[in-house]
Amino acid sequence: MFSPGLDLDHLLEKAEREEKLSPAELLFLLELEKPEQLNRLFERACILRNRYFGKKVFLYSFIYFSTYCRNDCTFCYYRRSNSHPRRYRKTETEVLEAARSMAGSGVHLVDLTMGEDPYYFQRHGFEPLVDLVKKIREATALPVMVSPGVIPGDLFGKLARAGADWYACYQETYNRDLFHRLRIDQSYRLRFESKKKAMESGLLVEDGLLAGVGENASDVAFSLKTISDLGVHQARVMSFVPQEGTPLGGRPGPPLERELKIIALLRLLMPDRLIPASLDVDGVKGLQARLGAGANVITSLIPPQLGYAGVAQSIRDIDDGCRTVRGVIPILRQMGLEVAPLEQYRLWIEDERKKLRRHFGKASAS
Ligand code: SF4
Repeated sequence: MFSPGLDLDHLLEKAEREEKLSPAELLFLLELEKPEQLNRLFERACILRNRYFGKKVFLYSFIYFSTYCRNDCTFCYYRRSNSHPRRYRKTETEVLEAARSMAGSGVHLVDLTMGEDPYYFQRHGFEPLVDLVKKIREATALPVMVSPGVIPGDLFGKLARAGADWYACYQETYNRDLFHRLRIDQSYRLRFESKKKAMESGLLVEDGLLAGVGENASDVAFSLKTISDLGVHQARVMSFVPQEGTPLGGRPGPPLERELKIIALLRLLMPDRLIPASLDVDGVKGLQARLGAGANVITSLIPPQLGYAGVAQSIRDIDDGCRTVRGVIPILRQMGLEVAPLEQYRLWIEDERKKLRRHFGKASAS
């Protein structure tokens, strides 16, 4: 594409000065294709990452404790109407065992994820979830992220008081039409607003995009800008992986470069935020490329042999122990990166939560 007035060197220098890139500039960068140009983009993203985080990388465990869901997202293996998945809902004892095991292995955070499980949303309410957060916090002393879907507004404060630090909720795209084709019968607005409510309640927020589900480059540029304006603390992108038994099951996944470019642009837009390299798309095989595009968190580390699934890759690299701290350390070493001390992660979280409290005042939970 010919973009008058736009020049790669100029845009990379602008990003390095931490000046905001416009949607047109993001679009220009998203459309880069030559390997030499992409390498320059990734290098610049890593320079910005290193400015704030040095060579240190954070590690997140992923505990997908219920694979039941009331929703029917067209891209998701665990959509309500799919009969293929082996569904499970782990007991409190089982989740605590997994969390302790991951804490012992050296992760920085426990990510508690579930589908919008009717057990909580309709039958038993959210007290068991609040309780679980409290017990995991007590058992591991680690920061906790909750990814429970769109929840009632009064629950954010309760989760924060129980010890949660993070709320993760992925919009997938900020193209409204595409959102409604992906997240059937779900509210775009409620999903967006839930992130703001979580921040007002003192929780750090992660948003996320899904690449390869019918978005065009303009949609991605707009989504990146919206996420950056929202002021989230962590932003991830994951490539779509076709899932058996789903409406999008016959659609091929996107080329890896698309996800890598988005990782790099997230870093250019938000140099001091956390940007994950997820193991849930290509397993450990794709880790080096994602870190090389500017990511500074490894997500989806899963305890082996305990019957836990990933979301996009339900079994890949799990039971052989590759998606563990021990499994990723050699890759970090090869890249001259290292696992951050837990204290560094705790301090980062504390600082960001203080900023939220200052911003939202009394509404924010301590
Ligand atoms: S993406 Fe989440 S909300 Fe949608 S069907 Fe899957 S588990 Fe449910």
